[in-house]
Amino acid sequence: MATNWSANPRCPAHLRAEVEARALSFPPAFLNEPANGEVFENVDLCRERLQGFAFTQGFAIVQTSGSMTQKHPRFYFQCIHHGRKTQNNRDLEEHIERDENGKITTHRKQEATSINARDCPYHLWLSYKQVGRRGSGQYGLVLGIKNNAYNHAMAVNPLVYSEHRKSLPARQAIVELSKSLRSAYVSYSAARRVLEQAGFPLDRKSYYNLCQRPISVEKDEFAALVVALEDAGFVFDCRMEEEIDENDKVIDTQLQQIWFAYPDQI
Ligand SMILES: [Zn+2]
Repeated sequence: MATNWSANPRCPAHLRAEVEARALSFPPAFLNEPANGEVFENVDLCRERLQGFAFTQGFAIVQTSGSMTQKHPRFYFQCIHHGRKTQNNRDLEEHIERDENGKITTHRKQEATSINARDCPYHLWLSYKQVGRRGSGQYGLVLGIKNNAYNHAMAVNPLVYSEHRKSLPARQAIVELSKSLRSAYVSYSAARRVLEQAGFPLDRKSYYNLCQRPISVEKDEFAALVVALEDAGFVFDCRMEEEIDENDKVIDTQLQQIWFAYPDQI
């Protein structure tokens, strides 16, 4: 675990603790500038290390190409701001696509891309090659530095990048919970109440996109919710209200309130 890293003095005060906890959870080596010749067991470990370093600096990396199925596997990593800068509005217009009714379909996406596009030259690669002594017959993924310069200021808060937000432990727990809710056929409206309490509202479309399985109308939504919470390891309690007819028979049960927490939080 890293022991001496502090957030930028201008990092928003309410995020400071979360940012520092994340950086301090990295192996200390993540804080060093990536260097030629670092060897990795797999691409995921390399990505984690590069993203960790980027987090501590205030930028984010993206993998721009590469696959282990290539004959000579080679992966490229660039700064999230690598894209070609959009010079003027006319360039942006050229990227706008419209459907047959003339409705703009990709305008927003292009704008989002252009915000990140700053022609940043930061560029590293990872190639699969022989490591150790010549003729050792041992292969590994070796890091190479093509260009380690940036052309922009670093963010004072790394969490401005979704690449870093989604790697936060709390966020990952919530994504797992959402997936469980989704696979247990809990409807969006029921899941939203749970996710909002956890501070991670998720829009309807993202929720339904979590799994490929078709959604069905689930009669026993509440039972499914309980199963999903249990599966995800949450501790929870529910307040139910029963409607009773004149013969003391329960004719309807409604979930009024649900409380839950991750065991670590209590
Ligand atoms: Zn950059």
